[in-house]
Amino acid sequence: MNTSEVHDDAAALGERLHGLVTTLSAAPVRSITGDGVRATLEIVHKALAESWPGPGIPFEIHEVPSGTPVLDWTVPKEWNVRAAYLVGPDGSRVVDVADHPLHLLGYSVPTRARLSLDELRPHLFSMPDRPGWIPYRTSYWNENWGFCLTDDALRALPDGEYEVVIDTTLTDGSLTYAEIVLPATEPAAADGEPEEFLITTHTCHPATANDNGSGMAVLTELARHLAALPSRRYTYRLLFIPGTIGSITWLEGNRDVVGRIRHGLVLTGLGDRSDPTYKRSRRGDATVDRAAAVALAETGQPHRLVDFSPYGYDERQFCSPGFDLPVGRFGRGQHGEYPEYHTSADNPDFVTRENLAGSFGVLVRMIEICERNEVWRNTSPHGEPQLGRRGLYRAIGATMNRQAVEMGLLWVLNLADGTNDLLDIASRAGIEFDSVTAAVDALAGVDLLVRADAAPGPRATPPPADVR
Ligand code: ZN
Repeated sequence: MNTSEVHDDAAALGERLHGLVTTLSAAPVRSITGDGVRATLEIVHKALAESWPGPGIPFEIHEVPSGTPVLDWTVPKEWNVRAAYLVGPDGSRVVDVADHPLHLLGYSVPTRARLSLDELRPHLFSMPDRPGWIPYRTSYWNENWGFCLTDDALRALPDGEYEVVIDTTLTDGSLTYAEIVLPATEPAAADGEPEEFLITTHTCHPATANDNGSGMAVLTELARHLAALPSRRYTYRLLFIPGTIGSITWLEGNRDVVGRIRHGLVLTGLGDRSDPTYKRSRRGDATVDRAAAVALAETGQPHRLVDFSPYGYDERQFCSPGFDLPVGRFGRGQHGEYPEYHTSADNPDFVTRENLAGSFGVLVRMIEICERNEVWRNTSPHGEPQLGRRGLYRAIGATMNRQAVEMGLLWVLNLADGTNDLLDIASRAGIEFDSVTAAVDALAGVDLLVRADAAPGPRATPPPADVR
């Protein structure tokens, strides 16, 4: 597949991604549950419907009831916000969630009270070192209430009596997430169900653009891209889930799917100005880890590869030891690395069209490499097969020099022994991934190679009896 064939130019792609980030940032208050999440998923659904390459969008909304035990956790009560504001001594509203979704401490319990400023202070959150920004705070697992505001606004509050109005509901309801499944187009290998590629993003932060409007926008675009591919070796399962409790809930309900996951990615923070950053899976050398390293190196641009740590986003759950899935994380600036993180300054101006499109391009390439990373077997492994008479150089074409073509052919023939995958071969031979695949295609075209990891196909020619 060629990215430029599927998408218009990078500028149009960047514009589309940024537009969706902006729309998602303006959505109502959202959290790990509630109508804000449903409204957010509806925005995603509408964006997909604008240009879906085929009939019917496989966009499925799941509702998991409050109280459901999920791994070591429990699906929480559903939280909804009708109104939340603070009335000052002079009767004016000094903070109002209607002005900015971050003004309300996430999961604030319903509260009506009259308090002095001193009594109120433990419930007011600001950032003294960034006096013009509103912090993003939540209290999911401890019942609390509060308001988040700029430090400038906090300092301007006069003494006197304040009226707290938090008209929220915290009741039995459900946790909402969305799932898109794009089935493999190739027959499943060996026994039964197709292997899967899992890609997830979190949906729970209100308003913030990079973390994680960018993740939702890029995953939406990726759904469209994957659906348009003429063939898919893997079944792609794309999840829009609330952070932590969403992945835990999904893992609990999908234990049958877990065993089929061959590659996975958690997407977050894809539009800021930091270098593209890939965090390896717990395994450290999974195919997706190696594919990410190649895709990033190919850009020729600065980038980072960081090792797994049990901190961050949903990779913590997918890479918990009981699952140990081959799931890495891709984005740019990491949690807490940039001052705008979890503040009102993480707004659509903070993410750029160019970086959103750049992240998307790297992601597409990672997937392309995973799709193409087969294991092959040389059908003539005893001595070098005679290459000249098979027209292989013509098959690869004139764009590469003859020596490089020959090196690619020799390395592939030597290492394609049914154990090395194409990433192994590229790495050991020190040649480009695309040179390896070009050599493979040419050699397979003259029956010198067969797929070793595909469904039952042609068998390698057994060696002559005298050398067995
Ligand atoms: Zn976050």
